[in-house]
Amino acid sequence: MNQSPQTWLPGDHQPGSHTPSSADDDRLVLADGVLASGVRADVVLRGSVVADVVPAGQARLTGDEVVELDGRLLVPAFVEPHAHLDKALIADTFPNPAGDLNSAIEAIVDAWATLTVEDTITRAVTAARKLVMSGVTAIRTHADVIPENDSKSPEALAEVKRRLRGVCDLQVVAMAYPLTGSDSAIGRLALDKAIGWGADVVGGAPHLEHDPGAALAFILATASEHGLAVDLHMDEVLDVSVQHLAELARQTEQSGMEGKVTASHCVSHGLLLPEEQRELGRILASSGVSVVTLPRTNLFIQARGVEQAPPRSLPGLRALLDSGVTVAAGADNVQDPFYTIGRSDPLETATFLMAVAHFTVDEAFGAVTSGARHTMGLDPIRIAAGSPAELVAVRASSIREAIAEQPVDRIVIHRGKVVARTSTESWVAGE
Ligand SMILES: [Zn+2]
Repeated sequence: MNQSPQTWLPGDHQPGSHTPSSADDDRLVLADGVLASGVRADVVLRGSVVADVVPAGQARLTGDEVVELDGRLLVPAFVEPHAHLDKALIADTFPNPAGDLNSAIEAIVDAWATLTVEDTITRAVTAARKLVMSGVTAIRTHADVIPENDSKSPEALAEVKRRLRGVCDLQVVAMAYPLTGSDSAIGRLALDKAIGWGADVVGGAPHLEHDPGAALAFILATASEHGLAVDLHMDEVLDVSVQHLAELARQTEQSGMEGKVTASHCVSHGLLLPEEQRELGRILASSGVSVVTLPRTNLFIQARGVEQAPPRSLPGLRALLDSGVTVAAGADNVQDPFYTIGRSDPLETATFLMAVAHFTVDEAFGAVTSGARHTMGLDPIRIAAGSPAELVAVRASSIREAIAEQPVDRIVIHRGKVVARTSTESWVAGE
């Protein structure tokens, strides 16, 4: 079978594009889509919001700009709540043959000695465009803010955010380390510089810190002072004794940051007894702390050397869902020392959630759409009048089929405009 994807993004020449002849340039009709309910509908956009949803064939007015969905599934745009765009696409240059977390960290420290701001911008834009092609219109990316990085990542990602304006929304997390111990002055200065470069979120990895509790306090105070959110790499280790989620919840409430804090990874939570997992879930839910799980990278990088029934290296996701915690899922690393393979496609992440964490279709899809938007502090999307027009049309007839097939053929809408379109041509002998 021959399959050749073709993609158009803003800035490229769009083959076959036409100029709207209507006087109402703000009106765009997405014609003949299939909604998640199975209903065929026309969806009218006006500016950056959904204006109307009507039965298929009833929306089109003379002169309207029309995008023919031709029976594609139309759903809320995907969200990537946890990327590392600054490190993306360096797997061949900085390999990690051992495949474990410590070797990946060693490789990335080496990498920052030679990677430049310009190179980081180029790779990050390429990785972000791959996400947009997949249907993502909101990305939260972590930026390394470590002494070896010399502020290259926050500087580069500030420029990436500028270049992607109008294509997708980008949030940058200043992932600062160390913030406690003998080198803390260097780490804290680097965090100050990252905030100066326009970071939206304060991050870090408390479990790696000399004093995790003090690091949490510093991060929450810094975020509160600057009016920023918090997103932390939490307990990303297969050691049941490493547990900082309760302290995070306690300090979140104490600092008045409820609803603005995200705990990413949370690998060791999954090693607790079921009742302990649920109790922590209740504590996180009541303090408004969201959890982002990263199944692809954590399956790849954790449990190396465990020969018998290796753990899945995920938080206790069922306990978290049952406790009312907002759960989102991301791709994490893409083709770098932490995850040397991977594609930037939330439908692939959803597949992992179903196979490895036993999520239902709706739970998996919610983790890469509504849950991820909640985590990023963004308004929810509905295919209904008044909703932000953040949408993706996929060549599939249901959400289950979209997750199963992950079709390349997609049309992506951001702020009411088509920002990416990929089509495929296939031929099979006998047709
Ligand atoms: Zn990460």
